[in-house]
This record gives sequence, C-alpha cells and structure tokens, in this order.
Amino acid sequence: MDIYLYNTLTKKKEQFIPLNPKEVKIYSCGPTVYKDATIGNMRTNIFQDILRRVLKYNGYKIKHVMNITDVGHLVSDADEGEDKMLKSAREENKTPQEIAEHYTKLFFEDLKSLNIETPEIICKATEHIPEMIEYVKKLIENGYAYETSTAIYFDVSKLDKYGILSGINLEEQKAGARVEVDKEKKNPYDFALWIKAPQNHIMKWDSPWGKCYPGWHIECSAMGQKYLGEQFDIHTGGIDLIPTHHENEIAQSKGACGKIPARYWMHGEYLLINGGKMSKSLGNVYLLKDIIQKGYNPLVYKLFSYSCHYRNKLNFTWEGIEATSKSLERLKDGYQKHLEGTDNVEEDVINVYEEKFHKAINDDLNMPLAMGTVWEVVRETRKSPKFAQLLLKFDTVLGLKIDEKEEKNNTQIPEEIIKLAEKRQQARQEKNWAESDKIREEIAQKGYTIEDTKDGYKLNKK
Ligand code: AMP
Ligand code: ZN
Repeated sequence: MDIYLYNTLTKKKEQFIPLNPKEVKIYSCGPTVYKDATIGNMRTNIFQDILRRVLKYNGYKIKHVMNITDVGHLVSDADEGEDKMLKSAREENKTPQEIAEHYTKLFFEDLKSLNIETPEIICKATEHIPEMIEYVKKLIENGYAYETSTAIYFDVSKLDKYGILSGINLEEQKAGARVEVDKEKKNPYDFALWIKAPQNHIMKWDSPWGKCYPGWHIECSAMGQKYLGEQFDIHTGGIDLIPTHHENEIAQSKGACGKIPARYWMHGEYLLINGGKMSKSLGNVYLLKDIIQKGYNPLVYKLFSYSCHYRNKLNFTWEGIEATSKSLERLKDGYQKHLEGTDNVEEDVINVYEEKFHKAINDDLNMPLAMGTVWEVVRETRKSPKFAQLLLKFDTVLGLKIDEKEEKNNTQIPEEIIKLAEKRQQARQEKNWAESDKIREEIAQKGYTIEDTKDGYKLNKK
C-alpha cells in the first residue's frame, strides 16, 4: 500500500518513495542533554517512533540515526549566549560530562517507559569532532565559509537560495535585521560553524583554527553524512527546528556536496499545557515522571498523544490523562475479551479492518483515524481470538503493550499520598482512630483508597 507523508520542504503530502526500496534512512535531531526532557519533548519522540513503526509495518528495514547534543547548543539558536551544557554544569556544580551522562540516561529511561524504539545509531557530538572539522574544511574549500576573529561562519549569500524550508525572504528581513554581536559577520544570517573558544572555556578541541568548539548545526550535518551518506530519506524534528537549525543543515549540505541532505522533512507540532505554553515561570513544566508519580502507566501519555495528528497542536490536561487512562484499560480489556472469545469470524471481516487501519497510518501517520478502527475492533460484539491477533498486529504500531495486564503498585502512588498513608499508620499505632479516619478521608478525596493489611497498608487509585 502506498505511503503518503507531509513534506515540509514542498509543503505537500507526497507519496513516500525511499532511495533504497528495502531500507529507509532517517535522521532525527536528538536532545540537548542539559536538563530533564519534558512531556513536550516526548511528544516529538513519540511522533518519530510512530514514523519508524509505520514504515516497519509496511515491510521496510530502518536505519535511524539520532544524535545527542552534548556540546555547542548555545542558549539562543542564533549563535548567542552561553553553551547550554556549560550553563547547566555551572548551575548544578558538575562537569559538562557529568551533566551529559545524567540527562542522557534519564532521556533513555523516558523512551523506555514510553516503549519508544531506540534508533539503530545513537551518536554523541563530542565523539565526532574530527568529522566536523573535515566538514568545516570542505565548506571553506568550496568557498561557503570564512574565518573571523571569533568563529568560522557560513556565508549564506553564496547559496542560490537560503530559507527553502521556512520560506524566509532574506531581502525583506535585511531591513529589520538585528544588531550583530559579531561585527565581522558578512551577512546577518551567516551562522557559526566553528567557534573560537575563550581562554577559560571548558569544552574545546584543537583544530586548524585554534582551540574551538562546534556550532550546533554542523554536528547534525557531519553525523548525518557519516552514518547515512550525502543524501538520505527522512529528516525529523520538532517544528521549532525549521527556521534555524534545519535551514542551516540544508545550507551546510548544499555548500559541502550540493545536495539537500534529506528528501522528506517531517516536523512534529507542539504540546500545549491547558491551552498555553509550557514554561518554568508558569510552573507547568511536566515530566513523564510526574505522570508516573500520579499513578498512571506512562503509556497512557502515548495513547493520549494519538488523540491528535502529529501536525496539530495537542493540548495536555490532567483530565485528558485521567480519561485516557480509562481508555487504555478498556483497550486491554477488549483485547482479553477477544482472546477468550469463541465466535466465528470470516477472514474478510478481519481484512476490511486491517485495510482501514493500514490506510489511516499510511496517510501521513493519521493516528486519530487509525484509533477509530482500533476501537471498532475492540467494540465488536462477536468475540474472537482473530480480533485479538489483529489488535496485536495494530499494537506493533501503537506500542501500547495491550497484552500486558495492568499492574497497580505502590511505586506509582504519589509521594504526597504515601506520606499521608505513613502518617495514618502512625496514628493507628497510637490508637488515634479519629486522626486515622480523618487521614483516610483525605486520601479518598485525593482519589486513592487505603486498605489495612497484615503487613501495613495497601494503596490503590480509585
Ligand atoms: P528543548 O529542550 O526546548 O531544546 O527542546 C528539544 C526539542 O524538543 C525541541 O527542538 C522541540 O523539537 C521539542 N520540543 C520542545 N518542547 C516541545 C513541546 N512543548 N511540544 C513538542 N515538542 C517540543
Ligand atoms: Zn539537528
């Protein structure tokens, strides 16, 4: 069955035809490992996981590369401010390596909790410095880069067109161009490939231009080319990467080898919180850990994200998570009921559902539509293991582990509730039954039940 994907480059849904008919090559811009990944970051990772799984459903092998940015991503994407890794290291009183290790580990734990497949190749920027130096050399040789006293810059005026992904018009932008930090830059949109490190800068490497550190964009171009070649099939990332990071990757690749690195560019939209931005100042930055601590299976968040197409904004609410938690239970229950069923179902019926699901996922990963078919199968009044098998097949895309029974345990109960339970235990030991009853009521109001057992107590979500 044909696959259609929306390509940011052409702004159209296009039939997907890989360069190699058997293996699809994908590059995803990975995390900058200087802080906890939020559920917003995870939305982008879920979208990328769905892409992989859909391609596999269609019989393709995948070679998927994801980088880990552990140097060079400055506070502003436009080459300004401090390196995010160094800032975080300073604030947490750790070395940049410790920061990178810590947040990389947490990032992969989140992927595992969400049953997101690990890309075939994970590559760290700091382990690819020689490849980046070669790339910068090539850009200088080809006349696309120049040196100033602070950096090696890419000269955007040398390109036939800069801005093909975001549709930016440089002529129009020039009038309102901001005041440049580096007066030696030839054009406002020139960006740093390689930055000369000040004396006291911790992360720096020897290079033909002295002790330097890489710009963020060159990392992806150098690693993409190393593992996937000059041109590959799909490049993915969050929507915010379009105007600067991906535009600059395209510029670098055109300068180095005359090609746009990927044929299809796919971008995931943002997750909103209660209709607005997630931000520290609003105190609404949620991590996957917060969902788990409230007692939810993390896969509830994955299912929640299927309620919206990846190119639309998704609004996160705790009510939505609560409702989706019940949906996940119903889905698992529906699978079990079919598994135990004995009704007879013709192959044709199965095929019709399968085709509907397949068509939906092949239509630019239309998960809300695909879920419609999943629910139709769950709700079938005839109960048959054939439907259970079909749901398992769908689950190779959904990745919701529908055949695993839900376990409720104390590790998923929030700290706050556990503390109340401990306090109640203390009151019981002191035979303060009034206090114990009061706390039980408080726990109930917060959505949990507490049973007394011979070993102490057992908490459950209501
Ligand atoms: P950041 O940690 O803000 O640098 O984000 C890393 C990447 O995660 C970004 O480049 C985005 O592509 C993605 N991302 C960040 N916030 C969100 C969000 N609220 N929704 C979806 N994706 C996001
Ligand atoms: Zn990138």
